[in-house]
Amino acid sequence: ASGSQPDTEAGAGTSGAAGGTAGGEESSFDYDIIVVGGGPGGYVAAIKAAQLGKSVAIVEKERFGGTCLNVGCIPTKALLRSAEALKEVRESADFGVVGVDGLQARLDMTFVQKRKQGVVNQLVGGVNGLLRGNGVTIVSGEGVVKDAHTVEAAGKIITAASLILATGSVAKHLPIPVDPAMEVLTSTELLQLDSLPESMVVIGGGVIGIEFAYFLASVGTRVTVVEFLDRILPMVDEEITQQVEKQLRDMGIEIHTSAKVTEITACGVCFEKNGKTCCAEADKVLMAVGRGPRLDGIDCEALGLKTERGAIVTDETMRTSIDGVYAIGDVNGKAMLAHVASMEGIVAVENICGHSSVMDYSQVPSAIYLQPEIACVGLTEKQAKEKYGEIKVGRFPLMANGKAKVAGEERGMVKVISEAKYGEIVGVHLYCIHATDMIAEAVVAMKLEATAEEIAASIHPHPTVSEVMHEAMHALADGRAIHF
Ligand code: NAD
Repeated sequence: ASGSQPDTEAGAGTSGAAGGTAGGEESSFDYDIIVVGGGPGGYVAAIKAAQLGKSVAIVEKERFGGTCLNVGCIPTKALLRSAEALKEVRESADFGVVGVDGLQARLDMTFVQKRKQGVVNQLVGGVNGLLRGNGVTIVSGEGVVKDAHTVEAAGKIITAASLILATGSVAKHLPIPVDPAMEVLTSTELLQLDSLPESMVVIGGGVIGIEFAYFLASVGTRVTVVEFLDRILPMVDEEITQQVEKQLRDMGIEIHTSAKVTEITACGVCFEKNGKTCCAEADKVLMAVGRGPRLDGIDCEALGLKTERGAIVTDETMRTSIDGVYAIGDVNGKAMLAHVASMEGIVAVENICGHSSVMDYSQVPSAIYLQPEIACVGLTEKQAKEKYGEIKVGRFPLMANGKAKVAGEERGMVKVISEAKYGEIVGVHLYCIHATDMIAEAVVAMKLEATAEEIAASIHPHPTVSEVMHEAMHALADGRAIHF
């Protein structure tokens, strides 16, 4: 082994150096693989590689789980769960609950934060346990990539035959004047608040902006959303966005689209709309205009690593422009989603192990956690028309579903789209309770190239909300749903 061993916490059963590779070949490197970054891309890659017999080190400077577990998906969903509990209490009289004063119900944000942190800590601990249990060597500290085989971390040099870069992303800021008297938060800081602002302007009507706008409005904050494009949630099917926008407006959220933010003043956000300058006043501002790749410890120019718009360029096998160096997750800028990062990690590892694996970005599900939830996979109706010309669309409203009626949540719809020639399903869009869990059925169906007829011929359990998918497939295949 070359280089000195760093201060590492070796996992149970770890072989340490690559000399102990499953294949038994001698190697001049310390490890088969070094993974830089321990988010859902990096830690999944490390576990998978260890399961396939590779000796693996993972370098992480903060906590395992990355943005998703620590300051993203999981804590956001924990806050939303508290908002949902509050809503249930407030609406409990509708279900015959007596003795509860719904008007007095409110969130104790200190407790909410404690619960959120408890959930996060348990999951982060779980990731640590999984890495150790699989024999991955943990290196705590910032990794600096020296060359295609070498990383400096925790004051030592470690080497590997292959590197997997998984350093994640950071929130973007707009290049506009900002008065220092106004507190401008990103999602990271907003997740730490232990008191709720009376009012908030959210810049950006994407996933982060709308999930937080929904959370804040649910718990009593006055919210204004300012979005540059002509609609919020531009990645969601237009028909569904319209319904979601109406729901948010009905909650009291003010939404300005086609609005160009020009300045953040001491009392709010100024923007241009229809040639006029407007100002939305608020106590605090949330900046949610997207995230950009994080390249801490990776000097792409010095390494000769090709980038495009700040992201490390990869092909569908996750290989970068340097032999033996792979980049997965947000840092490659392809689709900034935890589940994409994890799959990219598996693809990278399989390729390192000599298999031939590629990423398919056409079947990536999205999940947006309002209530009702939004989930989709594949093309929107507009995109499908542009791509295929002739398409078929099947729809089913939630109000015609028994389980939704029982739950008291009948808002929303499901919409399925196929291309007309072969009947291949090319898009599925859900706006309903349990949407984020139910979208997995559509992902598998699309992966297996199932037709609407085949899904309509698959028995769905009753009474469940999943029947809406079945019904929409009937609507697509036969032109008519059974129960609508
Ligand atoms: P995003 O790209 O989803 O949305 C950013 C929004 O800001 C866009 O609608 C964009 O048009 C708008 N915008 C850009 N510049 C603007 C300007 N000057 N003024 C007003 N609006 C402007 O980014 P995000 O919401 O910040 O999320 C970052 C990443 O994290 C995304 O890739 C997202 O998919 C991911 N994420 C996913 C989930 C989830 O899947 N549930 C949750 C949170 C974050």
